[in-house]
Amino acid sequence: MLERARELDANDPLAAYRDRFEVPDGVIYLDGNSLGCLPKATPQRLQQVIRGEWGEGLIRSWNDADWIGLPQRIGGKIAPLIGAAPHEVIAADSVSVNLFKLISAALAMKPGRKGVLSEPGNFPTDLYMIEGLEKQGLAEQRLADRASMEAALDKDVALLLLTHAHYKTGEVFDMAALTRAAHEAGALVLWDLSHSGGALPVDLNACDADFAVGCGYKYLNGGPGAPAYAFVAERHHDAVQQPLSGWMGHARPFEFTDDYAPAPGVDRLLCGTAPILAMAALEVGVDLIAEIGVERLYAKSQALSEFLRECLDDRGVDLDLVSPSDPASRGSQLSYRHPEAYALSQALIARGVIGDFRDPDILRLGFAPAYLRFEDMAEAARHLAEVLETGEWQRDEFRKRSAVT
Ligand SMILES: *Cc1c(COP(=O)(O)O)cnc(C)c1O
Repeated sequence: MLERARELDANDPLAAYRDRFEVPDGVIYLDGNSLGCLPKATPQRLQQVIRGEWGEGLIRSWNDADWIGLPQRIGGKIAPLIGAAPHEVIAADSVSVNLFKLISAALAMKPGRKGVLSEPGNFPTDLYMIEGLEKQGLAEQRLADRASMEAALDKDVALLLLTHAHYKTGEVFDMAALTRAAHEAGALVLWDLSHSGGALPVDLNACDADFAVGCGYKYLNGGPGAPAYAFVAERHHDAVQQPLSGWMGHARPFEFTDDYAPAPGVDRLLCGTAPILAMAALEVGVDLIAEIGVERLYAKSQALSEFLRECLDDRGVDLDLVSPSDPASRGSQLSYRHPEAYALSQALIARGVIGDFRDPDILRLGFAPAYLRFEDMAEAARHLAEVLETGEWQRDEFRKRSAVT
């Protein structure tokens, strides 16, 4: 398989992009879906922002280096990756905070309805943010599994909030069909694109989506805790009102008036001052992903994951795949269920194969195709087969849980 892998790498149109990232020697990084690798251009750009724009330019850089325009500028670059127009996307805050703003805005747009429908097992923060609004008496959380999602869209549901590609299983929702069903039921839709943006083709406007949020530190390679992004369809730009009415979302922040007047369009989603260093790092990651292009990344990610499955088959590894076996139905990951998934993931990390564990029993392998090789798949399969054969995962050191898994 290693020979075939090398042949595939030799014919890979994205092969040269690996060199645009720092990928540590001896590491096969299957966790770019959780924290993307460092683009080589990022440290240099940050040096420039720190020494030049901050150190020398000081406060003048808000204008001279257009710090003030960064949330819109980066949002505009993310937009084509998710099927949005540039003026519909803004980079700001975390996914959690953007969820709060947009769930609140959606509820305010549907007076008389309080239901926010999601699925059990959605990414925790999505459910927790609904719960927070429920405690304030503003929302009622409804959960339905995938098979009964459309039936659960009754006249009390204001908003359908779903994660497009599931963080644990990688299962992908039919965005167009569910958006249509929600609209037919009189509800709005908010898509969490954290595991899609920059990895799978997403066409928010073709699906007539209302709102979306997504993550900057996963497939966009923006760095740990990178700012997130939010999308509001243009048709809602006048209607959307969000409760975190900070000064940066004001129509004229530098008039310093006592009363709040929301800025036009997505700008009103801003709250406080943007973290400029983090924004600068995010922009480098977004530029790089935009340069490669989501279609090519998606094609390679499917080829990588299918090749890994072949390599595992070839070695007789028979793990319980919980991701859809059809690559068209899953995001950029493969998840396997194993009662000792945590110890397995730790034993793999000790061998330099960094995937992750998702409670209680999922071994998750993510494929960030911009810097992964087919050779990495063959080697990862070998390591996984050896870890299982030798039983080395049973060592005590691999069973001790750390704070962050
Ligand atoms: C990673 C992820 C988040 C992250 O939220 P933050 O508030 O930015 O930490 C949110 N939703 C999903 C589905 C995720 O996978």
